[in-house]
Amino acid sequence: MRKKIVAGNWKMNTLPAEGVELAKGVVAGRKEVCECVNFIVCAPFTHLSMVAEALKGSDVELGAQNCAAEAKGAYTGEVSASMIAALGCKYVILGHSERRQYYGETSETLNRKMEQAYANGLTPIYCVGENLEEREAGNHFAVCKQQIEEVVFNLTEEQFKNLVIAYEPVWAIGTGKTATADQAQEIHAYIREVLASKFGAAADECPILYGGSCKPSNAQEIFAKADVDGGLIGGAALKAEDFLGIGKGF
Ligand code: PEP
Repeated sequence: MRKKIVAGNWKMNTLPAEGVELAKGVVAGRKEVCECVNFIVCAPFTHLSMVAEALKGSDVELGAQNCAAEAKGAYTGEVSASMIAALGCKYVILGHSERRQYYGETSETLNRKMEQAYANGLTPIYCVGENLEEREAGNHFAVCKQQIEEVVFNLTEEQFKNLVIAYEPVWAIGTGKTATADQAQEIHAYIREVLASKFGAAADECPILYGGSCKPSNAQEIFAKADVDGGLIGGAALKAEDFLGIGKGF
């Protein structure tokens, strides 16, 4: 049985006190959702220790949205994987399309970030997905394959066992446009096939999350698909009720 995961990507939203309130709201409502759903909140770096405190005693886990490609040293403004792990993070989002697009993250950088994440006991949530032009040209399969081959294929079998993939079509992120459940299933199944070509049966255990304007009203239909194991949620993760409502989609 693959893990069912609903992970919130708060992006650059909330001030620390608001983040704590949001986390407390998630903890308070969490018991109304099946225990089988694993909730993760990926807060801004600045709030991680306060949010960790707010999550104490609950099964809601903490993640960060990025980490440095280096272990430590003269890298002004960077935050290392060891720092976020020390604050209680279990997960780190890597390769989000906003980081690829606005901060020039390449597979080369992401390989080094993945290494840092694993060296510090973190589980990466590795994001892949095509933009609108690529989808319209029918290149979405090739784009996802390349993003996986260039990074995930460099992992050891042991590392691969601790990986979450998020398929996030860029055209659906924050746009209100969602991939249909069939579109999600089609590409999730393909991604699993690509993973299996390298890691064999272990690919059956790898959670593949859908991300892109997921909300309580569409989660159920998308999560019902065989290869969709949950969601990476942006906008709707900023309201505890909506975030939890997505978890009820299982
Ligand atoms: C995201 O950026 O990870 C995301 C899925 O955003 P949204 O849910 O707002 O589309």
